[in-house]
Amino acid sequence: QSGNDRPDGGVPVQLLDLQRRYGSIRALDGLTLDIRPGELVALLGPSGCGKTTALRAVAGLERVDEGKIVIGSTDVTQLATSGRDIGMVFQAYSLFPHMTALENVAFGLLMRRMSRGERKRIAHHFLDVVGLIDRAERYPHQLSGGQQQRVALARALAIQPSVLLLDEPLSALDAKVRTQLRDEIRRIQLDLRTTTLFVTHDQEEAMAAADRVAVMHAGRIEQIATPIELYERPCSQRVAEFVGISNRLRGEVRDGVATVLGCTVPVLDGSVAEGSAIVLVRPECLDLVPDTEGAARVVAASFLGPIARVQVRLHDDTLVQAQIASADVARFGHGSSVKVVVRPLPALAVTATARP
Ligand code: ATP
Repeated sequence: QSGNDRPDGGVPVQLLDLQRRYGSIRALDGLTLDIRPGELVALLGPSGCGKTTALRAVAGLERVDEGKIVIGSTDVTQLATSGRDIGMVFQAYSLFPHMTALENVAFGLLMRRMSRGERKRIAHHFLDVVGLIDRAERYPHQLSGGQQQRVALARALAIQPSVLLLDEPLSALDAKVRTQLRDEIRRIQLDLRTTTLFVTHDQEEAMAAADRVAVMHAGRIEQIATPIELYERPCSQRVAEFVGISNRLRGEVRDGVATVLGCTVPVLDGSVAEGSAIVLVRPECLDLVPDTEGAARVVAASFLGPIARVQVRLHDDTLVQAQIASADVARFGHGSSVKVVVRPLPALAVTATARP
């Protein structure tokens, strides 16, 4: 067996106050992030927030103007990529076209003084880990996109790096392959316990794969938390709106409780001012009741398997999304009048800002 059997199960990675400017653009602006040994952290954020720059800085492909990068107990800030003990998978398939899958995976081992036989044995092992042992002799053009990314993953893992860096590795794949490979990456990572930083702009992908999700904005981390914490207790309106769907509703806040659509709900942001506010409410916290007198109207419904999302236009023209059981969809046809009720769920993701 040649799995990554570090007894400590991975190394910590620390990014301390990283700064990187491109002219007047601050791509990294005080980025601080602690990744625990063996943890998978997803770096999530909108285009241009600095995710790729951060990942490339950890890889040593991009210098930083200020700050410190520590892998394990080594300050690697000034070290070249080759001295950092990292494995990387990029968005675009980066396999060597003239090498077989096996040769691609074995390639990374060339630098590590190993016999040919040993390299081949390890490459076989990691092709097996990613489920491609029967494609070992195929060339990249004979593999599907998903298979090519598996080979790229096997190549990154074969060197048994301290840190695995994934830069949108799934974004070129179609939806089904994408979720399959996402789940597989997570399973393999949990097995090997390699400390992993996974860049993505897809919040579902981040939530599904990560131990913790770090939401980036303007070159720094806005919030880092487990997927559940992030969803239920976003630290700001920006995070709440980036992670999951949020309905923006007008409400009144008094004593930590908001009145929205005639219902009262707890407000998570304790610092919110009293009085009129915008309250963010998740679709699963909005329920529908048939009501012929109701001023709200169903404008569309999408069937999502066990649940359905229903778009409702409120009396003041606001559009909201409610979530109902699919079995109930027939009761809320297009144009039907409804009353929208806010469920007082303990997990209610509610935050509020000052005046609309
Ligand atoms: P995306 O999801 O679109 O890849 P990102 O979050 O990865 O975005 P970065 O690629 O890290 O963002 O870019 C952060 C900022 O730095 C952007 O404003 C970008 O235009 C700028 N930037 C990145 N690389 C360079 C460069 N080589 N020269 C100049 N500006 C750059």
